[in-house]
Amino acid sequence: MPTVRLPDGKTLEVAEGASVADVANRIGSRLARAAVAARLNGKVVDLSAVVAPGGPHDLEVLTDQSDEALSILRHSAAHVMAAAVRRLYGNVKFGVGPAIDDGFYYDFDLSQRIGDEDLARIEAEMAALIAEGVPFVREEVSVEAATALMKAGGQEYKLELLRDIAAGGLTAGEVAADAEAKPLPADGMVSLYRTGDFVDLCRGPHVPHAGRIPALKLLNVAGSYWRGDSTRPMLQRIYGTAFFSKPSLAAHLARLEEAKKRDHRRIGKDLDLFSFHDDGPGFAFLHPNGMVVLNELLEFWRRLHREAGYVEVRTPTVLSRDLWLRSGHWDNYREAMYFTQIDEATYAVKPMNCPGGLLIYLNRPHSYREMPIRMAELGLVHRHEKSGVLHGLLRVRQFTQDDAHIFCLPGQLQDEVVGVIRLVDRVYRTFGFEDVRVELSTRPEHSIGTDEMWEHATGALRGALEACGMTYKVNEGEGAFYAPKIDYHIRDCLGRSWQCGTIQVDLAMPERFNLTYVGDDNREHRPAMVHRAILGSIERFLGILIEHYGGDFPLWLAPVQAAVLPVTDRFNAYGVRVREALASAGLRAELDDSSDKVSAKIRRASLRRVPYMLIVGEKEASAGSVSVRDKAAGDLGAEPLEAAVRRLAEEANTKRLRPKATGPAPAEP
Ligand SMILES: [Zn+2]
Ligand SMILES: [Zn+2]
Repeated sequence: MPTVRLPDGKTLEVAEGASVADVANRIGSRLARAAVAARLNGKVVDLSAVVAPGGPHDLEVLTDQSDEALSILRHSAAHVMAAAVRRLYGNVKFGVGPAIDDGFYYDFDLSQRIGDEDLARIEAEMAALIAEGVPFVREEVSVEAATALMKAGGQEYKLELLRDIAAGGLTAGEVAADAEAKPLPADGMVSLYRTGDFVDLCRGPHVPHAGRIPALKLLNVAGSYWRGDSTRPMLQRIYGTAFFSKPSLAAHLARLEEAKKRDHRRIGKDLDLFSFHDDGPGFAFLHPNGMVVLNELLEFWRRLHREAGYVEVRTPTVLSRDLWLRSGHWDNYREAMYFTQIDEATYAVKPMNCPGGLLIYLNRPHSYREMPIRMAELGLVHRHEKSGVLHGLLRVRQFTQDDAHIFCLPGQLQDEVVGVIRLVDRVYRTFGFEDVRVELSTRPEHSIGTDEMWEHATGALRGALEACGMTYKVNEGEGAFYAPKIDYHIRDCLGRSWQCGTIQVDLAMPERFNLTYVGDDNREHRPAMVHRAILGSIERFLGILIEHYGGDFPLWLAPVQAAVLPVTDRFNAYGVRVREALASAGLRAELDDSSDKVSAKIRRASLRRVPYMLIVGEKEASAGSVSVRDKAAGDLGAEPLEAAVRRLAEEANTKRLRPKATGPAPAEP
């Protein structure tokens, strides 16, 4: 009889031909009710999957409490949506329908235009399928049989996917675009899933039947090029989300509302921070107000790095093809690079700063005495992102990386990583990001370098994390092929997670570029090399900050820190004095000397998110004071001018955070 080993180590004999659901049932009826899918010998499978003979097979039942189950639920909802669209519209060609971070989507090619007003109708049809409890039926067929079926149905996109599978799988770029919808070929077999009369090519798993989807909502429709390629047909993508409970869904929808209010593209317009133009898609234009914020960020960043013993360099944007061949970017990264011809030779626009930094290192010999060398670069890089994925500042084609390369003796590696971890911690805290997730990714299956190199590098990262008392998750085998790495994910006030910082120990570049230093034995040795970024992309980080603060920047970052508002024209002269006092304390202040009523001036300053309004009239002018209105806390009453200026300057200089803006509770982790 087959046996399974449960996560607690217990083994269990099960009947021949028993499914995962049968096993869950044997363990307990509560578990069986909560079960969504299972991990069987490391692979996530349907509840209907049969336990193979022999064993023991490792089995973990995934309940509605697990993250994986949530993404299975959402992906299943995508199938149900496709089934509903098929019922309603008949002749539909299907693209792909993966689960994504906060929900799911499916891409449809159909002649009618689906508008937001149609979503309720599709949702109602989905509700009917859910009420019917339509099952997900898995079938394993040959690629040929699947091809015949899709051909008969006129499913040209599925046929294309099948062709790619037959040709040896999808390329890495396409896998990313297709996300979860990628079926895995095993011995020329692919899996199909039927939901009502909708058949999809999918590796699964799914919930056992549509009735297991208790709470869902369709959100919007957007155009999306097939495979993110603007030369391919434009499909209609319907986005939705699903949860295991109605209250979780309601909380999520409230967060989405809040996120809409905080959309950095909208706030960017309101505060006149930046813009995008058709003449440079994916390239941000930073306006004077945006530059104020950006320069404050950079000044802060430079000060911290000086204090931490970094030097700063700048390397060229356009560098020869030969360099990119040597660095390996030509072979591994070419699709995301821009090229140009100069004097009939090919040059590339840098997508990364490393090769330039290496040339500086190689410019002269180095001694062990100067190690470590911490070489920082605020490098402007260009990466050719597909037009479909561009998203305001959060996904751009040109950005500034807050990069640094550390060259050190192998024995210094761990201490250097400790230094980076401390620096990262200080930076994130300053912005009020307290909820930070750290992941350590180790050697992948395909990698360069020796066991010793990997052990040393991974050991240094792990040792540094432990030395700093960090809690971290290990992603076994998910490092880059040339480097183990630590990644930082920060959670914003809406509970959304952003990958920002990274620390990588490079095992390839020192070899490729033959980096050396002269040791105390007078011989040449190979230095260790660390790449690290803290904010990641400054432009993207600015976008994250705008949404995190909802446009209400801490005083040190606010484009305009104080607005001086005379109650009538008579006090404009005193207003000028107040503005000058603020300016001489290094504060960015504006005087509203328009002839509008003071209530209109207050409204205007509030809309522009000016943190402090200093209102001046008869009383203030004669007493040499200001009436302070804090955008977050309201009226603070009159205060001597000098005291107010000192207080504001102190708040800005200490980079104090503003009181948290009210909003819905953060997302459950
Ligand atoms: Zn599926
Ligand atoms: Zn680098």
